[in-house]
Amino acid sequence: MIIYDLCCDNDHKFEGWFRSANDFDDQIERHLVCCPQCDSHKVHRIPSAVAISSHANEERGNATKPANSGNSTALMPVGTQAMALYRQLVQTIVSNSEDVGNSFAEEARKIHYNEAPERPIRGQATPDECDALRDEGIQVLHLPAVKEEDLN
Ligand SMILES: [Zn+2]
Repeated sequence: MIIYDLCCDNDHKFEGWFRSANDFDDQIERHLVCCPQCDSHKVHRIPSAVAISSHANEERGNATKPANSGNSTALMPVGTQAMALYRQLVQTIVSNSEDVGNSFAEEARKIHYNEAPERPIRGQATPDECDALRDEGIQVLHLPAVKEEDLN
């Protein structure tokens, strides 16, 4: 799957998802790609900084693979210090974001599609809603439940 940044002849920029470069060429050829804002079919690619690459692993080439021994190293801070850091992080996020409660998913979409002012928000969303948001390219940070009274 590749993502192209596209632009129509009215200078509207949008993203298009394609199976491959050939798929993109094919869809352009058959006028299947159109601008979501003005329906123009005169669409061209613009250089993109965003890409989903399947080469990340290949580039490492002959890098040593972790031994399949179950001995892999994991870093897992434990104890009160880690918990204090974690609470600090949560506190920072909480105090710098707007609580939108149960309309989190809806609000996140509005921000993503420029229908609402861009700002950090927090709220409740079901795992399904989070998955749907991620599918739409919206970054969602999942905070495990921390009781309010634990935050101070
Ligand atoms: Zn357009």
